Amino acid sequence: MRDLIIVGAGPAGLTAGIYAARARLDVVLLEKMAPGGQVLLTDIVENYPGFPDGISGFELMDRMKKQAENLGLPIESREALSFRFDPDSKTAITDKGHEQARSIILACGANPRKLGIPGEELLIGKGVSYCATCDGPFYRDLEVAVIGGGDTAVEEALFLTKFATRVYLVHRRDQLRATKILQERVMANEKVQIIWDTIPLKILGDQAVEAIELKNVKSSEVLSLKVQGVFIFVGFEPNTQLLKGLVDLDELGFVRTNDTMETSVPGVFAAGDIRSKNLRQISTAVGEGAVAAFSAERYLDTLRG
Ligand code: NAP
Repeated sequence: MRDLIIVGAGPAGLTAGIYAARARLDVVLLEKMAPGGQVLLTDIVENYPGFPDGISGFELMDRMKKQAENLGLPIESREALSFRFDPDSKTAITDKGHEQARSIILACGANPRKLGIPGEELLIGKGVSYCATCDGPFYRDLEVAVIGGGDTAVEEALFLTKFATRVYLVHRRDQLRATKILQERVMANEKVQIIWDTIPLKILGDQAVEAIELKNVKSSEVLSLKVQGVFIFVGFEPNTQLLKGLVDLDELGFVRTNDTMETSVPGVFAAGDIRSKNLRQISTAVGEGAVAAFSAERYLDTLRG
């Protein structure tokens, strides 16, 4: 049986892997997609220390992955399908067999939340997108709507001005949630028009997005905005479907841990966006990954007596 399984190769999982490999634990990291996590969807990261001119999300994660591999961390392309947490062993049942260890770190991250309005599901990939870095270049000289008022919506709206002639930022309140520096930038950008106090009702189009129907929540006025793309950034949902009933989750479904990153089950740790917390950043994920690996090592020491 191994010492440790890490699930998820975003900043939290890769950092946990770096620390576990340097601690010479018998560890494996399982990732169902390309290592890197959601940072891969980010064009430029400018608030991760050490890169005064910013760094592309892809390059930052590629560097973290190489660093982990150079230190001897095995990264396997496998999807966890279910988990079993027994007192003396933690099992990940994957699409390529079982993996068993004395401890486990859950770093499975989160996924973009959907609006759940008519037209959204039908038009995914036909004008509805959750990734500006991936799809932005398709909207050169076109008009797009961005839904949301947080850091992601504002950052991505700014990124989309590189391509689109006009970006409508549709926010349900009269104040943005995003960090002040991003607010300043978006307010100063002539290509962005903020539509305040407004919610999306439905996305119109058959083979492609043609318009979005919006409602002003103060005046109840409904209007149809002609756009060719709708980018949705209304927060994230944790990847904890497989963990229900196994570890304590908060009311939004994020994993509760203590300061050592241990969940309600001894030997099961969690780090990164999957955790219940206030600030979801690369820097916080990295710190939590380090703490989780350190705590797992301590837990293994205790087991060995
Ligand atoms: P977020 O902070 O949860 O913001 C979600 C936004 O979507 C909010 O403005 C919210 O409105 C709006 N919203 C939620 N549900 C909606 C609905 N059904 N209809 C319309 N609007 C809706 O999510 P995020 O921006 O993706 O950020 C997630 C975390 O990652 C945050 O901790 C953020 O700081 C972090 N992040 C950081 C950076 C960076 O530092 N550069 C970049 C990206 C993300 P209300 O404001 O009214 O609630």
